[in-house]
Amino acid sequence: MKKLCVGNWKMNCNKKTISDIDVAQARLMSVEIGMAVPYVYIGAARVAFGDAIVLCAQDCSQFKKGAYTGEVSAEMLKESGVERVVLGHSERRSLFRDDSKVLAQKVANCVEASLDVVYCVGETLEQRESKRTIEVITEQLSILRGVRGLHAVDVAYEPVWAIGTGKSATAEDIGVVVGRIKRDLEAFNLAGRVLYGGSVNKACCKELSVIESLDGFLVGNASLTNELFEIAQSLDS
Ligand code: PEP
Repeated sequence: MKKLCVGNWKMNCNKKTISDIDVAQARLMSVEIGMAVPYVYIGAARVAFGDAIVLCAQDCSQFKKGAYTGEVSAEMLKESGVERVVLGHSERRSLFRDDSKVLAQKVANCVEASLDVVYCVGETLEQRESKRTIEVITEQLSILRGVRGLHAVDVAYEPVWAIGTGKSATAEDIGVVVGRIKRDLEAFNLAGRVLYGGSVNKACCKELSVIESLDGFLVGNASLTNELFEIAQSLDS
């Protein structure tokens, strides 16, 4: 399986962000590049990215269809050319109350719409300090147990305290959690890559890219420019 580097633009981009991305660089890489863009830019990004960058959404509705003003369904995303959906990002969990029940529904909707998933897990600083990291990750992953028909689920380990803070976890700490996630996925009979996210940039990516069994990165701030390709390059071995 190819290594994977997914950017997450959150609500920090505009049309120029799309046109400034040097899609040609993505074509030259053996690493798979994905970009999670806001709903309104899906059409423009689909055209700009072509088949060089996997078009991802940052979320989808927990509902399949109906009177849910402002919501966007998995089916609509599929129809608009999205291939993969990021679910369970810590900002969704903490600011929009995406709990296990909601996330299980979102995963099920993606399965039904034949969309791949990047499922995010990660502990808060308080949970880490009270040595509950593995317990929290195990609980968050448990919604994937019994999921069938999912073409691919990649899991991103993103310690909450490392997202957007400039403070990345150590390679050693990441390695332990990544190994555990892999074992859980195997136990669930799910094939998937495991990524790390949390303040990954061109300065720290080389050191992190050599972590045993790490399959890639989920990148926030540094994906808003072509720095994403420098980061992806570090996975290209
Ligand atoms: C993220 O948003 O998933 C993320 C990892 O952000 P950053 O790289 O900015 O920490």
